[in-house]
Amino acid sequence: MSKFDLDDTIAAIATPAGEGGIAVIRVSGPDAFDAVQPFFVSRKNQKLSGQPANTIHGGKFMDPATEFPVDRVLISIFRAPQSYTGQDVIEISCHGGLAVTKKILGLLLGKGVRHAEPGEFTRRAFLNGKLDLTQAEAVLDLIHAKSDRSLDIAVRQLSGSLSRALKEMKEELLRLLAHMEAFLDFPEEDLGIDVKTTMQDQFASLQEKIRAFLASFQRNQLIREGVLVTIVGKPNVGKSSIFNALLERDRALVSDLPHTTRDHLEEALEIHGFFIRLRDTAGIISTPEHPLDKMGMERTLAALRESDVVLYAMDGSAPLEEADRHVFRLIPKEKKMIVLVNKSDLPSRTGMKELEALAGKKPGVRLSAKTREGLQELEERIAGFLEQETSEAGEQITKLRHKKALETALENLQRAESSFKEKISLEFVTPDLRAALEAMKELTGDVYSEDLLDVIFSEFCIGK
Ligand code: GDP
Repeated sequence: MSKFDLDDTIAAIATPAGEGGIAVIRVSGPDAFDAVQPFFVSRKNQKLSGQPANTIHGGKFMDPATEFPVDRVLISIFRAPQSYTGQDVIEISCHGGLAVTKKILGLLLGKGVRHAEPGEFTRRAFLNGKLDLTQAEAVLDLIHAKSDRSLDIAVRQLSGSLSRALKEMKEELLRLLAHMEAFLDFPEEDLGIDVKTTMQDQFASLQEKIRAFLASFQRNQLIREGVLVTIVGKPNVGKSSIFNALLERDRALVSDLPHTTRDHLEEALEIHGFFIRLRDTAGIISTPEHPLDKMGMERTLAALRESDVVLYAMDGSAPLEEADRHVFRLIPKEKKMIVLVNKSDLPSRTGMKELEALAGKKPGVRLSAKTREGLQELEERIAGFLEQETSEAGEQITKLRHKKALETALENLQRAESSFKEKISLEFVTPDLRAALEAMKELTGDVYSEDLLDVIFSEFCIGK
């Protein structure tokens, strides 16, 4: 018998440990009502078991040993199967203090209720068919979301839109498999041209859908792990000042002396819902002599290669010089780039024609790190790039587990398709199709192992 049997009743404090306005203790299982009732004296002297689902009841939570109330509480009741876990659930809202919550939980645990493991409420929801595995994972993503973007994706996934898209793919795969099996006893030559064309189309459509999902993983990685935005430029153009202005706090050392930033600094910030890792780099000089400068240069070049967006900074109060051109040439051509013409508070001396000759039609922003003019436009430009990059329509996958399952499905489909094209008997094609279907089922949790659930739910907090 699994440790995660559904027959016992579990409880945990569902709110973070510490002091707060209120805290919630959650109880789920067949004996939820019986476990809570002995401690609860309702204001109207009513028994919880007689109350309708989805109602809230005020009263006192009593300590039978002292016959004193532990706290005034509100009790919400939910009945199977219309609850988060699909079981009878009781949520006790009490004051948010450590002693209160521990006392209430302790009293319940003394009544044969088991302390819930991390994520066990959501695990029960999954086992009772309230959520599929990708939705259960979305619960965790929602809790961990660091930006509006990640939150959006988690909410969509939790609402079941990803599950529906994956279900359609599974059905499509099943149709192809059924189609093949129906023709299993036919020699390959006897398959009509239209049957073959239909099968070809099914292969192509499925692979296209899987590829779109895999591409969405790449995009989501940007959203989840943060977009690397690097500021580069020759010394003294105001890179550190721009970095600080964007962060709105002083981290980098700003000085009148060139070369203050030999290494790069990185800070996290949020721009228009995107999680950004902003990097300041050492000023680029064409002939570094000091060993520290050389090291700084190498780091800057490495940072440039890794960047998702490059902010190419220059001093707008000085003419464009060879040193600026040198920096520009070092930026890999394929990088998304925004030209920053800094120091707009001073008279402009950068020839716009020369700048255009160098950077072409690259988007540019005139700004002043000193007066903050143009900063908002810069943020809008950065967000604009990322919206283009991440706004592809359709469902998205977010987890390495999803990616691996889809890669397995794709490999098997490709193998099946090439056997089919090479006119190998259909009975050699179907095992690969079945393996592809199996991978899809693992993705949504139609088939799962206890070990997999342990890995997924161990990341959850207790009480979720
Ligand atoms: P970095 O070497 O490119 O990182 O440049 P810093 O940020 O250290 O700035 C170099 C000098 O330019 C400092 O004296 C800054 O105060 C000054 N500076 C930076 N941005 C501006 C700006 O927008 N306007 C003016 N007037 N001075 C600026």
